[in-house]
Amino acid sequence: MGLFGDRPGEKMGDMVYAWTTDAEIAKHAECGGAVTALLKYALESRMVDAVLAIKKGQDVYDAVPTLITDPNDLKNTAGSLHCGTLLLSKYVAKNLDGAKNKKIAMTVKGCDVMGILEIARRNGINLDNLYMIGVNCGGTVSPVKARKMIQEAFQVDPNLVHKEEIDKGQFIIEYEGGHKGISIDELEEKGYGRRTNCRRCKYKVPRQADLACGNWGVIGEKAGKATFVEVCSEKGANLLSRAIKGGAIATEKPDPKGIELRGKVEGAMLKLGEKWRKKDFAGLKKDPWGTIAKETGRCIKCYSCIENCPVCFTVEDDLKKSFMIDPGAVPPNPMFHLRRFAHISDTCVNCGQCEELCPMDIPLALFSHAIRVEGDMAFAPKLGKQTYTN
Ligand code: FAD
Ligand code: SF4
Ligand code: SF4
Repeated sequence: MGLFGDRPGEKMGDMVYAWTTDAEIAKHAECGGAVTALLKYALESRMVDAVLAIKKGQDVYDAVPTLITDPNDLKNTAGSLHCGTLLLSKYVAKNLDGAKNKKIAMTVKGCDVMGILEIARRNGINLDNLYMIGVNCGGTVSPVKARKMIQEAFQVDPNLVHKEEIDKGQFIIEYEGGHKGISIDELEEKGYGRRTNCRRCKYKVPRQADLACGNWGVIGEKAGKATFVEVCSEKGANLLSRAIKGGAIATEKPDPKGIELRGKVEGAMLKLGEKWRKKDFAGLKKDPWGTIAKETGRCIKCYSCIENCPVCFTVEDDLKKSFMIDPGAVPPNPMFHLRRFAHISDTCVNCGQCEELCPMDIPLALFSHAIRVEGDMAFAPKLGKQTYTN
């Protein structure tokens, strides 16, 4: 007998095609609306007190984190924002009290969940109170660079764009008067496209979350209308089972060819990530200390990189003090940065926030990621102490 009457409950490792049964959610959703429907079900059934999701703000370049307690508001968060480069881990720790007093369901990309796990290891987040619905992630495009790319490579006024998507390796925009797609490879050859940390990223299917959801592997008549869901934890299995039983989502077995295809695409993305690592790190290896000294020579010591790093969380204030060699000097001595890199060298999750939010455009993520990857190759335990991979 299964968890719910005759129906066997879902379990870890299960895979399904899933979609919402709510027509309103389906209208706004990216690929069938299973993610929004799961979040809505979790809130309606009081499995959680609130949902943390992302919604479109002023325009497609503006991804806004939003805490929802009214299930009817969830439809406004459906859809994928590929210029949403924000990281939710520190947001949960700082603004939601680390989910210590509230149960929260949230959507996470691979880097969000890795940041969350690192903060949880430092007792800054209570994982027992979190339901993490992972979305596969091929990469995000920095909002400022996306505007430049659309202006220069697409020759379209970025203010006219009302929808963007990534499909079959193309970045596609819809704007007043038409739509256009250009291959991401072509854009990246020209210096546009995904953030550099995203190119090197290997958290494409976020199996560290409770469920991993994406469009890879959905083929046949369900293509574009359903999401491929992989169950990654008991908690995820429980939420999925209850949402199916409660009628919030419908599911069917994935096409075996779809499973194979999903594996192939994931493998290709991991290879591509490795290629970018080799390329980016080779450039740095030629003169690491000279490059770091030159690039950080632009630093204005605003501390944004410290404040936004998910790994610096607990000792942030101490860090600001202890990194000082010559207080008040701008730019700071390069040792200011080397001490920070050393401090995060075992746990940098390559989320790219330091680089993304640096007002001086210093390639900080490249430096800390290169140091961590070298360290991971040389020493054990690896990042996450065997519980997850890089
Ligand atoms: P919906 O019901 O539409 O819900 C989407 C959820 O995503 C919402 O909860 C929303 O809050 C959240 N969200 C939107 N933007 C962001 C963001 N920037 N960061 C965090 N959460 C966000 N799938 C693949 O198989 N391959 C990919 O390469 C791939 N790349 C993606 C890149 C990004 C940036 C995102 C957000 C998603 C990506 N996905 C990818 C997942 C896919 O686009 C769908 O989100 C997934 O199939 C679920 O579809 P749905 O209709 O059930 O989601
Ligand atoms: Fe997605 Fe990885 Fe970039 Fe995070 S670092 S946005 S998971 S590609
Ligand atoms: Fe310096 Fe940039 Fe860090 Fe600000 S974010 S302290 S400018 S490196």
